[in-house]
Amino acid sequence: MESECRCVLSTDSFEARSPAVTLTGMSDLLERLRGRGWRLTAQRRVVAEVLDGDHVHLTADEVHARAIERLPEISRATVYNTLGEMVSIGEIIEVATDGRAKRYDPNAHRPHQHLVCSGCGTIRDVRPQGDPLAALPPAERFGFAVTAAEVTYRGLCPDCS
Ligand SMILES: [Zn+2]
Ligand SMILES: [Zn+2]
Repeated sequence: MESECRCVLSTDSFEARSPAVTLTGMSDLLERLRGRGWRLTAQRRVVAEVLDGDHVHLTADEVHARAIERLPEISRATVYNTLGEMVSIGEIIEVATDGRAKRYDPNAHRPHQHLVCSGCGTIRDVRPQGDPLAALPPAERFGFAVTAAEVTYRGLCPDCS
């Protein structure tokens, strides 16, 4: 009996959901985790949701602060463990800069570079024009088979300047 009602509901929610998919800057972390069959407990889902869909890479403590707004009982240890597990399966990247707290990057599968604020440590994903890997001339490769390039742009964010 209830399943008849759900047909109507699911049509509504599908329509409501489709505009969100086109938002720019969304990472597809949650989709990727589902796709690989990672067991999404309530805690894991909240940690993934907090990281997903934002160009700003959060520290573990920031992830925890946002996670407890959604799931008040989630512990700091659970957040740290879940982040560590997602790093170990290669779905998020740990970004360490200038000896500050590590930040977590959900865009593990999209080539991009980082823009780092020297004031507050905020990191944004950026895509420079041209391929930084191709920018290194053969004479500067010293026989290396070069496979990746990381470029960090530094400056002050609007809040710090
Ligand atoms: Zn800043
Ligand atoms: Zn990034």
